[in-house]
Amino acid sequence: MSNRLRRFPRRQSVQVRIGNVAVGGDAPVMVQSMTNTDTADVDSTTAQVAALARAGSEVVRITVDREDAAKAVPRIRDALDRMGVSVPLVGDFHYIGHKLLEKVPACAEALAKYRINPGNVGFREKRDRQFSTMIEMALKYEKPVRIGVNWGSLDEDLQARMMDENATLDQPRDAADVTREALVVSALESAARAEELGLGRDRIILSCKVSDVQDLIAVYGTLAARADYALHLGLTEAGMGSKGIVASTAALAVLLQQGIGDTIRVSLTPAPGGDRTQEVIVAQEILQTTGLRSFTPLVTACPGCGRTTSTVFQDLAGKVQSYVRDRMPQWRQRYVGVESMNLAVMGCIVNGPGESKHADIGISLPGTGEEPAAPVFIDGRKAMTLRGAGIAEEFQKIVDEYVETRYPRRD
Ligand code: SF4
Repeated sequence: MSNRLRRFPRRQSVQVRIGNVAVGGDAPVMVQSMTNTDTADVDSTTAQVAALARAGSEVVRITVDREDAAKAVPRIRDALDRMGVSVPLVGDFHYIGHKLLEKVPACAEALAKYRINPGNVGFREKRDRQFSTMIEMALKYEKPVRIGVNWGSLDEDLQARMMDENATLDQPRDAADVTREALVVSALESAARAEELGLGRDRIILSCKVSDVQDLIAVYGTLAARADYALHLGLTEAGMGSKGIVASTAALAVLLQQGIGDTIRVSLTPAPGGDRTQEVIVAQEILQTTGLRSFTPLVTACPGCGRTTSTVFQDLAGKVQSYVRDRMPQWRQRYVGVESMNLAVMGCIVNGPGESKHADIGISLPGTGEEPAAPVFIDGRKAMTLRGAGIAEEFQKIVDEYVETRYPRRD
């Protein structure tokens, strides 16, 4: 029974509570996600929030862009509560958040956090007034806020001011450097203003999202060094498919390894009709493969090569992965620590026995030309050999028995 969790030194941040979920301080790095339904459509938004929560999202953000959407929020909250889904909801506000929160108090109450974008909370003289209204709402309803700066909607006045100041320097900085600095300054000045208005640091989370991996790493490195607010990480507009997954992983893994980041979101563009929950699974896998958290047993599988000429190996790896994912909701309720179990499904004798010995349970299938037998290793020792057509079912039974005997029951 292994535990591959790593203890990286984490940057010290002030802990914030979003409903019943702790973020920052000594809390584990939290996974969040965002819906892509029309929030005014109560049924489809409720269904998607529930699906994201069941996939493992610990907080779910929803768009609150107009009065219909704001009025739907308390109904979505009620519907989720009736389903037994307690995941905190975060309202994503742009342009008119101050009006919506004032006009629809039930929305302000039902949300567990408000996201404010300093780049579009209001322009020129209205900016401070409207930002202040949102902070006053947070104070009135005792909610935290995320001050979420985004590269695509950076405060234009601030950026222009910083560009002008830069132009007067003897050795002006590169424009991209100034923009990165403007992102950080926008977040920190807004946070300072929120504190001035009475919101404590334990109610403020910051984010500075950009869509370029190196820019994101640079911006968060600066932000983390300058203040102890809890930080939400995410590569914005990461993209579709493997590009989105790889870019998000490349950026977030580097920052997490440096101890930076208290909550993460992976912003994937789903394929038409695609499953929104994929962003949750990818976020969990980033945290689990870097050793920061465990969510579900990992299956190590070799890529296969010319020594695996049949599909037996791919079939078994796929079946084992789906089996543990399907069983996990029950296992998690019943057994302590089962999410840290490691399984290995290997294609031939070259690396099969060795890799299988490193796993809690491993199976080494016969490669082309090898004897048709599959040795199974449990806790590093060869325990049995499987043969014949029912290897997948027998292996699943072995996994079930291992869970039953190795992990203590919760009751
Ligand atoms: S373990 Fe065997 S089948 Fe798998 S990649 Fe290595 S050599 Fe190929």
